[in-house]
Amino acid sequence: MVSRQELVDELLQHVEAVDGVLDYEHHIATKRLKDAPRAVITDRLSTTLICFQCRKVIEGEPIKLKMDGRDHYLCCPSCEKLYTEKYQRLKGAAR
Ligand SMILES: [Zn+2]
Repeated sequence: MVSRQELVDELLQHVEAVDGVLDYEHHIATKRLKDAPRAVITDRLSTTLICFQCRKVIEGEPIKLKMDGRDHYLCCPSCEKLYTEKYQRLKGAAR
């Protein structure tokens, strides 16, 4: 897992490799980093699944539901039950 400091270090190394970098550009790069941890989050999601019902990290084998062509992940049968009920309710309300 990459911490924010590691990201900054990596970015600075990259910036330093470019000739004639101004402090101004360093400032911009640091500022941008705050708005761009999305890549890190995406990376994390590909390895760690969060239960769609209770939002806890799923350890071990997740329960995978396919609804409306999308994958939904649940940590345990009780979450599966609650989530399915909620999902059906929301779907019904959207109609
Ligand atoms: Zn759960």
